[in-house]
Amino acid sequence: MKYVLVTGGVVSGLGKGVTASSIGVVLKACGLRVTSIKIDPYLNTDAGTMSPFEHGEVFVLDDGGEVDLDLGNYERFLDVTLTRENNITTGKIYQSVIDKERRGDYLGKTVQVVPHITDAIKNWIEFVAVIPVDGKDGSADVCVIELGGTVGDIESMPFIEALRQLSFSVGRENFCLIHVSLIPVLGVVGEQKTKPTQHSVRELRALGLTPHLLACRSAQPLLESTKEKLSQFCHVPAGNILNVHDVPNIWHVPLLLKNQNAHMAILKQLNFPSIGTAPDLLEWTKRAETFDKLTNSVKIAMVGKYIGLSDSYLSVLKALLHACVACSLKPSVEWIAASDLEDESAKATPEAHAAAWETLRNAACVLVPGGFGDRGVGGMILAAKYARENRVPYLGICLGMQISVIEFARSILSLERANSTEFDLETPDPVVIFMPEGSRTHMGSTMRLGSRRTFFQTPDCVASKLYQKSAYVDERHRHRYEVNPMFIDKLEDAGLKFVGRDESGKRMEVLELPCHPYYVGVQFHPEFKSRPGRPSALFLGLILAATGQLQAYLSKPH
Ligand code: GLN
Repeated sequence: MKYVLVTGGVVSGLGKGVTASSIGVVLKACGLRVTSIKIDPYLNTDAGTMSPFEHGEVFVLDDGGEVDLDLGNYERFLDVTLTRENNITTGKIYQSVIDKERRGDYLGKTVQVVPHITDAIKNWIEFVAVIPVDGKDGSADVCVIELGGTVGDIESMPFIEALRQLSFSVGRENFCLIHVSLIPVLGVVGEQKTKPTQHSVRELRALGLTPHLLACRSAQPLLESTKEKLSQFCHVPAGNILNVHDVPNIWHVPLLLKNQNAHMAILKQLNFPSIGTAPDLLEWTKRAETFDKLTNSVKIAMVGKYIGLSDSYLSVLKALLHACVACSLKPSVEWIAASDLEDESAKATPEAHAAAWETLRNAACVLVPGGFGDRGVGGMILAAKYARENRVPYLGICLGMQISVIEFARSILSLERANSTEFDLETPDPVVIFMPEGSRTHMGSTMRLGSRRTFFQTPDCVASKLYQKSAYVDERHRHRYEVNPMFIDKLEDAGLKFVGRDESGKRMEVLELPCHPYYVGVQFHPEFKSRPGRPSALFLGLILAATGQLQAYLSKPH
């Protein structure tokens, strides 16, 4: 196994994840099989209990792992299926070491950060790197490891030390270190400043790691003189200094790296026989350029709770992007804080309330994404009602599906206090209930998580046609509540059809309103499996319906 380690310096939020995944793309385009590991030096065992407000979305894997959103970038860029073990956290490492200590596996020894924690990190990396992730047998050729945080953080020290030891044990021809850093431009002089990078490289070297390549983030392309200075002070050959300057969209990054021969430098460091031809990035280039040229857009109303930070719904945004690009459109996502739609909202001013409704009315379609807790639920119900009554295309994901059931029960079945027991334990009509297998005392990893099978009840539903599958589909889940089976007959008799169910037939997975242009709710999260060039079927359906193309698309043979 050969390793490419990507570290970050100076500041966080440099786009290290995108740089690391793009490196993976370029290596893959050279014909190599690539896997990846993301290291998060926080103490949480996984991202499952972390707030999307603070940390961005929780990404869910096939195996039910609740992980950092960077793993989503890797899955989308490299088109792989990762496992929960591909996300290493301090919490996981310490937990494994402490479990071993309790079992008495250390035979009376004092258990210490070095060597016990560092050994656990190395073993974990070596074990995970060989797990096949691309659907083929055998392990990958290269494992890209991204170390979260910035070099010098106290919490990443054990990882740096473990990686230093790893670089030594696997040998220099199997280890390539790429340090991502920032080149700011200061003041009126407009000079590109190299000092912060010099300092962070010095820090790295003091810890025993020497970068083979630098990936410099900057607003404008780097000047030759800046590169020379970096080379001289950072001990990196000028040819190995890559510039990742700002680009119109992230799909340009792999090409940007290839054009600077990043692959040659990495292959050389890793002692791979150099490939004769240039890596094939045609599809990426085409996609990036096509996107830049798109002029028409489609307005999508996103009615959610976490609207301050766009990373909170990263995969939903990516899935919308993939679907829009497939329709030659740019997504224009209009954020609506759900609580602003409520009439008696304590938080919204009259202006905010009016503006929220104006945005909703101007949108071509409505999306209510997943979420937890009762904040904004009233507004989401109003949005679902508006979409249903006005025949506006609607996609409800997880919470968004539960919202549409509550709305339908209230408006059509006249069950005015119908609700989910997540929001009202006393409701006389609990149309959404806590799942029997859930836990009320432990929050981490206790939901219905990961890939589960949904069986279509009829091939004649929109979802089955969009998926182009008549029997079943596998999608990822993350929920504690579900539609109450006791209400299904009543809801169906009134016109809301549950066209997708689990193997028992009792758990509702997909709902549709057959008399509506596009009204779909799903208990799962289709956004996690959307890929550039292979958009998620239900997102594609939403955009096609929003632009009046759905019927034509469905009647075409595929
Ligand atoms: N809060 C709801 C549940 O737990 C929805 C979860 C979600 O949208 N991911 O079932």
